[in-house]
Formats: sequence, structure tokens, C-alpha cells
Amino acid sequence: MPAQLIDGIALSQKLRGEIAARAAALTAKGKQPGLAVILVGEDPASQVYVRNKVKACGDVGFHSVLEKYEADLSEAALLARIAKLNADPAIHGILVQMPLPKHINPHKVIEAISTTKDVDGYSVLSAGELMTGLAGFRPCTPYGCMKLIESTGVDLRGKHAVVIGRSNTVGKPMGLLLLQANATVTICHSATADLGVHTRQADVVVAAVGRRNTLTADMVKPGAIVIDVGMNRDDAGKLCGDVDFAGVKEVASHITPVPGGVGPMTITMLLMNTVEAAERM
Ligand code: NAP
Repeated sequence: MPAQLIDGIALSQKLRGEIAARAAALTAKGKQPGLAVILVGEDPASQVYVRNKVKACGDVGFHSVLEKYEADLSEAALLARIAKLNADPAIHGILVQMPLPKHINPHKVIEAISTTKDVDGYSVLSAGELMTGLAGFRPCTPYGCMKLIESTGVDLRGKHAVVIGRSNTVGKPMGLLLLQANATVTICHSATADLGVHTRQADVVVAAVGRRNTLTADMVKPGAIVIDVGMNRDDAGKLCGDVDFAGVKEVASHITPVPGGVGPMTITMLLMNTVEAAERM
């Protein structure tokens, strides 16, 4: 039987309804959630991402500020701007769109954002909070993947989860979140000798590689949950994930499509972190 689709658009809509209700309650008390988005330079994909984030804020009743700067903005000027936003009581979340121009150190910029406003969850302190199980902001994409897995109703306790990819923003935090949910976790990467040996044992596979057809049907245990984070283009230029969707859906029990799976959840979890930040302040 083909896998059940995990619908990231429907789940996003449901969660955004809940976020809007929380935002309305805060606004009624005079504390409308506010997100500041900073874009430096002209990267076309980044322009689309920030536009979508700002629009999503409006849709759930947040106040948002989009600050666009020329690519030659100095690192010092950017850090000064972040310091101003850290002190602004109308702003509860600050996001600096990556990648930054080469002359700006992204680590310095991320660490300049107040931990209480680090709604991307990328700072060393937020990573440490995740690592130690403290309540901090979880990076939005893996946080969204957890919500997608939860939506299947499958309890992760005692399950074997395999994450493919070990980036600081997706793979590693994904592994930690799965561990926190009591899964037994394996993290694979480009030096993993035989990927299929690991994925064939997995009850849950999360693919976060950036290479299409990384996970094919012969690499998946029948009945596994498959979450596809990848964003790639096929030969016809169409958006596709890391998973051979047509093949794997015949083997898996649940699978996310691309588009319409993880993608919409990432912005939703940014909104979730921002409303949470406003509630905490
Ligand atoms: P990344 O920083 O490039 O990391 C990719 C990871 O994949 C690395 O850890 C790399 O291993 C591993 N890898 C590469 N080739 C491999 C192979 N043949 N077998 C096993 N592992 C391999 O990418 P990322 O930022 O984590 O993003 C991953 C994908 O998710 C990209 O397609 C990105 O566009 C997409 N993405 C989507 C969303 C969304 O909202 N839908 C959000 C974020 C990212 P090494 O560490 O050994 O190099």
C-alpha cells in the first residue's frame, strides 16, 4: 500500500491558526509579537525568503520590520543595527538572512543577536540549550520536521531514527531533537561508508543532504516514516527533494512531498518561536 502523505501545508495552516490566536491574545495585552528581518545584499533566493517571512508575519497578526542593506554594508554597521534591535521592546525576534556577503563573519553576527530574540536558534547558546535539554529556541527546519513526525501519531520512543546530513542548522539539531524524543539516533554524512546499511534499519529517516535521489526505495525499511528536507532541481528544473519520492512512497508508511512537506513548516516554526519569544518577555 502506498505511503500516507504527510501534508506540510495543512499542518502549517493548523499551527499558524494557533499562532495567530496566541498573537491576538498578546496584542490585546499591548504586546503584539514583532519580528525583524535583516537582508544584506541582492541574493535573489534570499529576497524571496525574506518576502515570504514578512508576509507570513502579517498573516498571523505580527508586527514585522524588513531592513534591506546594500552588499557593501560593513560588519560594524550590521552589528550596531542588531544592538539597536536587541534593545527595541517592539521586537521579539531577530533574523539575519544567510548567506551574508563574504566580508561579514556570520558567526559574529549570529552571536550578536540577544539569546532571548534568537528565533532562528542558530547561536551557540541556543545550540547548547538544545544539547542540554533546556528550554531555548529550536532551529526552525528540524523543529518543523519533529512536528511533521508527531502528526503521524507514531511514538518515537525506542524507534531507530537515521538522519542523513550533519549541518549545524538541520542535521545535528535534528539528531538531538529525535534523541530528546527517545529515539535511538544514527547520523550519517558524506563519509558514511554504506548509507543503505543504516537507512534500511531505520523506522524514521530524515534526509537533509541537498542531492536528489540520495534515498531510494531499496534503502528504506517497509513501513518507515520518511521526511525529505532536501531542496533540489530535477532535469526539468522542477523542485524536488533528496528522496526518490515515486519509489520510496511504495515502501514507506508515511512520507513528506517536495514541495508541500518540510518547506512550509520552516516559516511556521519561525512564527512559533517568535510568538514564544514575545510570551516569554
Ligand atoms: P549542508 O550544510 O550542505 O549539509 C549537507 C549534509 O549532507 C552534510 O552534512 C554532508 O556531509 C551530507 N552529505 C553530502 N553528501 C552526502 C552523501 N552522499 N551521503 C550522506 N550524506 C551526505 O546542507 P543543509 O543546510 O543541511 O541542507 C540540506 C538540504 O536541505 C539542502 O537541499 C537544503 O536546500 C535543504 N533545506 C531545506 C529547508 C526547507 O525549509 N525545506 C531548510 C534548510 C535546508 P558532510 O558534513 O560530511 O559534508
